[in-house]
Amino acid sequence: MEDSQPRALLPCPYPKLFPSQLNRDDQFFMQLAYNQAIDAWRADETPIGAVIEFNGEPIAHAFNRVDATKDPTAHAEMLAITKAANFIGDWRLNECRLYVTKEPCPMCAGASIMARLKEVVFAVPDPKMGYLGGVLEAHATPSLNHRLNVRSGILEDQCRELIQAYFRLKRVQSKNAHVPNAIDEDQLT
Ligand SMILES: [Zn+2]
Repeated sequence: MEDSQPRALLPCPYPKLFPSQLNRDDQFFMQLAYNQAIDAWRADETPIGAVIEFNGEPIAHAFNRVDATKDPTAHAEMLAITKAANFIGDWRLNECRLYVTKEPCPMCAGASIMARLKEVVFAVPDPKMGYLGGVLEAHATPSLNHRLNVRSGILEDQCRELIQAYFRLKRVQSKNAHVPNAIDEDQLT
């Protein structure tokens, strides 16, 4: 019977990156966010990672933990923003820049505005749920008195491949997981 149980963990076939400490550019911080996304996959979560930069240093690392915490707000960006606020000792993150592997959803776009982040840089645009350009431009709301800068496209192909491969392999896994059950049922009749 145990053989028919679907495996809980889908091994991540992608290695982590080794960003050069010498070049603290967009690539560097997005590669750190990518590595967080790998950690998410290894924890059996949708592979999305986030890093917050302050004064050229990564001060907060986080990955999506919705399943583990059973908390719909446990997106990588939300967790990273909380960590950064704890680090800075202030809810205002005016001098901070958020790097995230996928365009923020409505919740995370809202949190980025409420945290008064200087800038959000994301890798993969999300035309279905992205609220920093994909579906809506939350940061362009005319009544906002905070200006949030948004850029995208850093490490886009690599981050997209990771997310797409995760869902592709998940589908294969759940399809295969049903095969033994089907055979068991046949044997009972
Ligand atoms: Zn989100």
